Amino acid sequence: MSRIAWDVAVSKRTADRWPRRVFLKASELKVFETWGVPVRYVRKGWRTKLGNRCTFRGCGKPADEAAHVIPYQDGVLLYDLTPSYLMRWENLAASCSDHNEDLRWSESRIRKHIDKLRRTVGSRR
Ligand SMILES: [Zn+2]
Repeated sequence: MSRIAWDVAVSKRTADRWPRRVFLKASELKVFETWGVPVRYVRKGWRTKLGNRCTFRGCGKPADEAAHVIPYQDGVLLYDLTPSYLMRWENLAASCSDHNEDLRWSESRIRKHIDKLRRTVGSRR
């Protein structure tokens, strides 16, 4: 099995096992703090879902990548969000190579969004 095929197989298996919860349990957060946050790759075919053009205001260049509007690593370590939640389409936006970081939400927007999530999914983690 090629390295890429192996990575795909492992990430598929992991994705199936990982909970669809929004917030991490304290014990899960502890593991990520200790061992680091595992890398996850955006699924192939993201352009079909997110579009072919950069969504940063007024840009419109061909999209090269999918940007996280809530940064992946910070989402896990600072905001207690699960990797599964952070990989949902609603957290991704099509980006050219220049605007990946510009598509990130501000900290205040992220906090507002998380407050709303906590109200809607409840205080359970
Ligand atoms: Zn752009």
